[in-house]
Amino acid sequence: MSLEKGNLSINSENIMPIIKKWLYSDTDIFIRELVSNASDAVTKLKKLAQMGDAPGVSPDENYRIDVVVDKANRTIEVVDNGIGMTAEEVRTYINQIAFSGANEFLEKYKDASEQSGEIIGHFGLGFYSAFMVAERVEIDTLSYREGAQAASWSCEGGVEYSMGEGERSRRGTTVTLHIGEDSVEFLEEYKLRQALRKYCGFMPVDTYLEVVKPPAEAADNSADDDQEDGDEIVIDDSKPEVKPEAKPINDKSPLWLKAPNDCTDEEYKEFYHKVFSDFSDPLFWIHLNMDYPFRLKGILYFPRLKNELEYIEGQVKLYNNQVFVADNIKEVIPEFLLLLKGTLDCPDIPLNVSRSFLQNDGNVSKMSGYITRKVADKLLSIFKKDREAYDGYWGDISPFIKYGCIKDRDFYDKMKGAILLKTLSGSYSTIEDFKEANKDKTGETIYYVSNEAQQAAYIKMFREEGMDAVIFATTLDNPFISYVESYDSSVRFKRIDSELSGTLKEEGEDANAQGEQLQTLFRKLLANDELKVTAENIKASGVSAVMLQSEQGRRMEEMSKMFGGAAALPPGMFAQETTLVVNTNSPIVKSLIQLADDESRGSDVEIIAKQIYDLAQMSHKPLDADGMAAFIERSNKILEMALK
Ligand code: ADP
Repeated sequence: MSLEKGNLSINSENIMPIIKKWLYSDTDIFIRELVSNASDAVTKLKKLAQMGDAPGVSPDENYRIDVVVDKANRTIEVVDNGIGMTAEEVRTYINQIAFSGANEFLEKYKDASEQSGEIIGHFGLGFYSAFMVAERVEIDTLSYREGAQAASWSCEGGVEYSMGEGERSRRGTTVTLHIGEDSVEFLEEYKLRQALRKYCGFMPVDTYLEVVKPPAEAADNSADDDQEDGDEIVIDDSKPEVKPEAKPINDKSPLWLKAPNDCTDEEYKEFYHKVFSDFSDPLFWIHLNMDYPFRLKGILYFPRLKNELEYIEGQVKLYNNQVFVADNIKEVIPEFLLLLKGTLDCPDIPLNVSRSFLQNDGNVSKMSGYITRKVADKLLSIFKKDREAYDGYWGDISPFIKYGCIKDRDFYDKMKGAILLKTLSGSYSTIEDFKEANKDKTGETIYYVSNEAQQAAYIKMFREEGMDAVIFATTLDNPFISYVESYDSSVRFKRIDSELSGTLKEEGEDANAQGEQLQTLFRKLLANDELKVTAENIKASGVSAVMLQSEQGRRMEEMSKMFGGAAALPPGMFAQETTLVVNTNSPIVKSLIQLADDESRGSDVEIIAKQIYDLAQMSHKPLDADGMAAFIERSNKILEMALK
């Protein structure tokens, strides 16, 4: 037998370091490339058989792929019973095409090896990726063609190959990888299984993982009853025992391929549990199924949040014809949808290209727009058809919707009528409905609470007057309300401690006259010449004073804190500082005013004024450490006074 030798016109000194460096973080994709080649080989043969172009081959044969790992011999085999190759085809497809792909890759990325995150798919590198983990790669293949001869091919280091007659007697291809020193991890069953599950979990051909036990171990296992002495040498010339798995590692017909009308709720839930290892049920889901102008199938799930403050981290897995490509590719899926969990199969997207290419691809942006519209449609249909369910979902879906609105104007435009406000009374209301129901008491303004405990004093005043406010308690709410205001001039949000709505004040009485007097008094007693004090007749006589800070002033302060700390802005820059509003309707305040001139009660007056100030301060924001210490000390003094 003559052995054909050749050179693959690839310079190993050039390509290997680059390939290894560039693909370092996901060397495991070699398994995806080899198994998807095997899967393609089966699919092609099935097609030929269906068309009657493969005599003697049935489309219903037991097609399968076996991945056989042999740790002792340091090999991984990928075996398929697909189309196979003739020697001529090996020359064309492997020597020329597969390796020209590698060459092209080298040309393109030799200068770009720093941007390792740039390329998504690594497709096209295909067969050559085997050399990321293998020192030597062998192919043994027999074509489906009648009278074909088995062909073998072997290549060391990805540069020099040799070809000859093969040994395979059954149709199909065996690719054998002789795993290199620095990739032995893939000889571990769990590691290989993990990679197979990740990339090949939904490939269309049954795929089995088989682990070869070393002969000695296999013998041990089969001779369990023999009480053999460890010293004795067991002579065993049996073949290594191959342990085929009973079940394939993959699900060859993932639910997203099934017609949405044929899927049951149970199936959707089960698929979710399995794919995302999340054992709570999703809230609901959207089954995407599109053929034109691009093909897209998939299921997006709205997960249930475990608690309101949970950091939401979604996972949208992207597939290309059932082959896993990557998680969370922002270019294909709008960023805010990455908070969801799901699988998307997009056969039409060139996933082997760089991210910058995807950004400029018309189909990709159409797809992203399509997905967004579908998500909005689904939400709106629940809103319209089952408002009760929608209200129930709101706590879980609102972060997603708010984020989506901020990120995507079209999404906001579609969703704005279905944005819900959670009210103090615990009900949910749209912005319009809330305004309509409250316009008599709060006019155009929607008052909100950002911290129910902190702002309890204001909430109490609201409740006493039968007024309602809404709750905006997450960090996302600040940018969200500014966003809504910027697009809808009819909506104005103000925090409950930013101003006193007229409804809270006694009608007809003007307390302003006393404002100046009180300002002088408090400035003196608190030794603070900057303090702003006004007086109001607040209906709730149990409230001695409140602290107010204008909505704009507070937002500016919060913003400046977010961007580099309050120190970044000089203190005077805020549009409005806080104002102590003293309630001249409060008996305590009335007494204070009377006592103020009585010098014998000087220290009592000071204690009361300071306490009033702190109480007002505390319902606006937490006291600092010194303030708290002083407050506690003074409170104890007040207790002593009460006991006297
Ligand atoms: P791609 O799969 O992107 O075409 P590859 O480098 O992975 O590129 O493979 C090159 C070609 O080699 C394939 O297109 C196919 O014709 C052939 N080939 C690879 N693996 C097999 C296999 N297991 N059975 C039959 N043909 C194969």
